[in-house]
This record gives sequence, structure tokens and C-alpha cells, in this order.
Amino acid sequence: MSDGANDRIDFAGANAAVCDAVLRLRGDALTEELSRVARVLLGRRHAVFVQRGEDAPQLLGPAEGVLRQPVQADAANFGYYEIGGGAFTETDRRDLAGLAKLTATLLQVQSMAQRATRAYAQVEGQLAHQSQILDQLQESVLTTDLLGYITSWNKGAERMFGYTALEAIGTHILFLYADEEGTEPDTFAEHGGRFMEVRRKKKSGEVFWASLSLSPLCDLEDKPIGLIAYLSDITERKLAEERLNHLAYYDELTGLPNRTLFARLVDQALMVAQRNVGTGCILLIDLNRFKLINGTLGRGVGDELLRQVARRFRDALREEDVVAHLSGDEFAVGLFDIRQHFEATTVAQKLQAALAEPFVIEGQKLQVGASVGISVYPTDGEDAETLLRMADIAMERAKQDNESPDRNVAFYCNDMNQGMQERMRIESGLRHALGHGELTLYYQPKFEIGSGQVVGAEALVRWVHPERGVVPPAEFIPLAEATGLIVQVGEWVLEQACAQAAVWNRAGLPPLRLAVNVSAREFTPSLPGRVADTLKRYRLDPSWLELEITESTLMHDIERVIGIMDRINQLGVALSLDDFGTGYSSLSYLKRFPINTLKIDRSFTTGIPADASDCAIAGTIISIGRQLRHRVIAEGVETLEQLEFLRESGCDEVQGYLYAKPLPAYEFEQSLRENWLLTA
Ligand code: C2E
Ligand code: MG
Ligand code: MG
Repeated sequence: MSDGANDRIDFAGANAAVCDAVLRLRGDALTEELSRVARVLLGRRHAVFVQRGEDAPQLLGPAEGVLRQPVQADAANFGYYEIGGGAFTETDRRDLAGLAKLTATLLQVQSMAQRATRAYAQVEGQLAHQSQILDQLQESVLTTDLLGYITSWNKGAERMFGYTALEAIGTHILFLYADEEGTEPDTFAEHGGRFMEVRRKKKSGEVFWASLSLSPLCDLEDKPIGLIAYLSDITERKLAEERLNHLAYYDELTGLPNRTLFARLVDQALMVAQRNVGTGCILLIDLNRFKLINGTLGRGVGDELLRQVARRFRDALREEDVVAHLSGDEFAVGLFDIRQHFEATTVAQKLQAALAEPFVIEGQKLQVGASVGISVYPTDGEDAETLLRMADIAMERAKQDNESPDRNVAFYCNDMNQGMQERMRIESGLRHALGHGELTLYYQPKFEIGSGQVVGAEALVRWVHPERGVVPPAEFIPLAEATGLIVQVGEWVLEQACAQAAVWNRAGLPPLRLAVNVSAREFTPSLPGRVADTLKRYRLDPSWLELEITESTLMHDIERVIGIMDRINQLGVALSLDDFGTGYSSLSYLKRFPINTLKIDRSFTTGIPADASDCAIAGTIISIGRQLRHRVIAEGVETLEQLEFLRESGCDEVQGYLYAKPLPAYEFEQSLRENWLLTA
């Protein structure tokens, strides 16, 4: 390294050397190199660069014979050059000032670069920190864009849902949903913190409960660009809550709702009933002999008995009926889907019948019965508590009847009680009638208007009561329908009508359509098979038989009904639609029903010819029948005027007192032979 006083280099060479030094060197090495450059630039033996902190204070002035040049840029002070030896020329001063300026500029650039690097490293460090914190969280933190597409997914989310960030990011948040709740993606566009408890689904398919808080995700200008969702698993807590809830509202022993829940459910149902002007009933059921069993055989047996009773009650009822265990040997049932209060008696009897079979517990056969008290909404009360109280009073009353305590049922209301007793008498009488040949069929002829000939007859059931004489069907058919006895009655009627047809067939009468009434409850998929079987057994041609069904039958499950009708049609058995005009069958459906005959209800025939609207209705039915290619018959024809009107309107057949009342079989046959023209 040259150190000679006259050994100067040019300014450009010095510049390059300074650049090189500032770029490569630090600390003492830099100081030394800059000092050397200063020496060679000025050709002096004594020249140093003294490095200072950027904000070093100004120094005292230089010593005598020393040239000092501060190295500073803007406010930053990097030190100074100092040249010894005196006798400085203008060139010396200019060169030194130039050198100092360049050095300062370079050092400033370098220091700025260093600072930026440091700041960048700091930010990078912070980011790494934050993502570490985010990943250490047990909770899921994820973000979505405004449309609900996932934009970030922490490790907690990976653990919670089982999807990696790679799998989750870019998919729509809905794929984590367990069920249909809140599937509107719009809710994600909404901002503002929200907190809720939700059900979500893991990759494994497992569904869990999570608490979810949502807050808006904003860009640097505070414009919302998505949502931050923070989820934690609260399944444990939810399950605990559910357990608590179950304890509060369900009876632990039987698993049935307890009194609190029952009252709530009843009040809710009553609110609906109020809107729909419906009827509701509460049945209070008290087990007979339970206390005795519990006392003598012990609580274990008593508890098991209650569990089994609960199960039998539940099985005996429909899904929508509420059954609860109130206390000890008391159960309650809420019925809100009934049309008439007396249907509650049928349910009460069903519950009693469910206890008929003995219970077998620890090898012992046990028998319990039940007394049932019934209160009716809205007659007896309008809220659960009142209705329960009234049912309790009714139940006590039921218990007092010592004759058959296991079959006691009582309404709170006296009138209803009497009605029920009457109905129960008829019901048991009807069961007896079925088994003891007290039912019989009457036949009423049907005439073809054009020819005046008998073309068929309607078979109408009668109950020949040993004391009351002939009981008309109006007095027992509705009850038979309500109790289900109609099915047995119907079976008997079909059998009897076919037996009669076989007798007349053998006696040489030409085929006569015998019409049998079939109620809605009999119109099941098993009906066509039963009809076919009966025809076969009596070796009857199907043209001997016709089934009359009412409009109410058609109003249930249309497709199912049409299926049954089709099968009856395929047998060759005719179908007629009874009481036509009184129901609500839609005309658009009517054309789909495979029926042969429309039967104008007697209530319209009665008004002919005086009542204009009855005439209009009858006329309309006839023209509908024409258009749909159905035959039309009018029932209840009592006068010649009615017959005339019907004839003019184009009605095909008539049935009514004008020709004949329903008659016992032998009288019918006699009239047929003696008075009525028969089709050959
Ligand atoms: P329905 O099927 O509409 O039967 C016609 C009813 O009108 C019969 O009453 C018949 O006696 C009566 N009637 C016929 N012509 C006249 C008339 O000119 N004037 C008056 N005032 N009445 C007339 P009935 O026999 O009392 O039967 C009543 C209802 O009971 C029947 O109405 C039918 O719905 C039902 N029913 C009768 N037998 C059975 C049966 O075996 N099974 C089923 N499910 N229901 C039956
Ligand atoms: Mg009929
Ligand atoms: Mg009718």
C-alpha cells in the first residue's frame, strides 16, 4: 500500500475505491480503507477517517494544521476525514470535500438499505409468529371471501374438521354444514360480529356442535372482503345440556315425557287446535292394583311393570299422540288429531286392551287394569292444567264403578258420559249381533227409466234387535265406522249378498246387479281379493255384483284408491259413486276414476221439482255423467213429478219409495216375480 506524500491517485480512482469499500467492508476495516483512500487521494501521510454513529454530536474544532471534513448527508452524521501536515491547497480542500460527500452519500444509502432489511426481517418474524400462534390454537380459525369461499384455514381447523388447508381452501364453506340450517350463502356477505351454536360435519362424516363467531374481514382501506370465522367444539357441553334437558322433561324410569313436558306439549297443541277450531282430549290413566304389586313384590318389580306398561301404551297409540308418565301409577295421553270427542273412548279402550295380556316379570304373571278419565277441549277447559284436573275428576268417577274396574272410562262432562254409555251399549250389542245372526239384508230395486224394468237392487243392512225391532243403519253404521267394526259388518254384508245372489241365480232369475255399500275403511288393497274370492266361492258371474262407494272414500290417497278401483274393475264388478254431490270430489279427478255409475244423492232428488237449485244440481250431475260416459241413477225418488223431471233430463235409472221400499229377500223376490218387469 503506497503511503508516499506525492503519491496521489485521481478522483475517479478514489471514487471507485470508496464505493468498493462501503459495499464490502464494515467497522475498522472500513475505517482503515477510507483513511487509506483519503491518504492516497491527497498524497498525505496523515489522513484518517473517523467513523461515528449516525447521530454523533458535532465535535470541537480540529487542532492546528489539521484539515477536517465532516462526512454527513441530510441530518445523518457518519464521522469525518482529518488530514494532517498543514499547507493545504484549494485542490486538497476540494478533493477532500468531494470524497466526504461521496462517502456520506454511500454510507447513507447503505444505512437505509440496512434499515429496510432489518424492518423486513422484523415483519417476516412477526408474520411467522402470528401464524405460529394461529396454528397453536385449539380452535379453528378460517376466513372466507364475501361469497363464502374459504381463503385461509389454520391447523386448528385441520384438526377439528380433518381437512388439510390444501383441501379446504377454495371450497365453499357449505361443505362443512351438517344439515340444512342456514344454507343461504347470503348470510356470509353480511357483516358485524355474530355468535351462534351450529352443527358442522367432519371429513369423517361425524357431526359435532360448535360455537361459531363471525366477524368481518377487511382490507387496508377497511372495506369488507370476507369473514373471519372462529369455531370451537362444544359437543361435550351440548350433550351435557341435552342430558340435563332430558332429566328435566322426561321420566327417567319409562323414558316418556314427564308432567312438565306433557303440559307444555298439550298447551302447544291447544294453540294449534284453537286456530283450526279443533277438538282435543286428555286421557288420564290410573293403573288398578299397581300399588298392591309394588307393595308386595317390591319396587324393582313395580318399576319394570311401569316400563312395560309405558311401552305397550306407546305402541298402542299413533305417532302424533302424546303419552306421558305423570307419577307413580298415573299416565296421561293427549289426543289432538280427532274429529269427535267420542273417538277418545275408542283410544281409552285400546289402552285398556293393551293391558289385557298379563305381564311376565321375574317369572311371575302380573295383571293390571286401568281406569281412564277424559276431559275435552274446549268444553272442559282451555289449558293443560285445567284439562288435567278435569280428567282427574273424571278418572276418580270412573274408578267408582266397581262392576268392571279394568274397563272403566268416564268423561268429565255428564252429557258426554251418557252419550258414551249409549255408544258402548250399541257397540257391544253390535258385536253380539254379528255373532248371533241379528243382521239381515233388505233389497231395494233399481229401475231403468227407459224400459221400466228392474236392473238391479241395493242391499241395505238392518239390525233385527230382539227388543228394539228393526234398527236402521243410520243408528249403528256411523258408530261401526268409528270403532272399526264396520270391517266385520262389511265382510258379512258382502258374503250375505253373494249368498243371496247365488240362491236367485240357481232359482233361474236373470242376472241382477246386487249393489253392496262399501265404507271408506273397507276400501283397502285387500278388498279386490276378498271380492274375487267370494264370487268364486259362490260361483257367481261378476255381473251379479256392484259396489257402492261414497265420495269420502275418494278423498284420501287418490293414487291408491284408483289402484284398488282398477283391480275391482278388472274383476268385472261395477262401481258406483254413492251420495254424489254431497262430498267435495274434484271434477278433474272424477274423470280418472274408473266408475260405471253416478248416484244422485237423495237430498237433491227431494227438492225436485220445486227447488230450482236441486233441479240444477241434478241436471248438472246427469250431464256430467253423460260426458264422462257414466250411467246416472237418482235415489230417493218418491213422486211422479220427480220421475218425470229425471226422465226429461236424461237420467238412466231410479231407485225410491215410488217403486218400492227396501224389502226382505223373500218379499223382494215375490215382487220381482209378480209385479215388476224384468230384463231378460
Ligand atoms: P245409501 O247407500 O245412500 O242408501 C240409500 C238410503 O236411502 C237407504 O237408507 C234407503 O232405504 C233410503 N231410501 C231409498 N229410497 C228412498 C226414498 O224414496 N225415500 C227415502 N226417504 N229414503 C229412501 P237406509 O237403508 O236407511 O241406509 C242408510 C245408509 O246407511 C245408506 O245410504 C248407506 O250409506 C248406509 N248403509 C246401509 N247398508 C249399509 C251396508 O251394508 N254397508 C255400509 N257400509 N253402509 C250401509
Ligand atoms: Mg248406497
Ligand atoms: Mg246414497
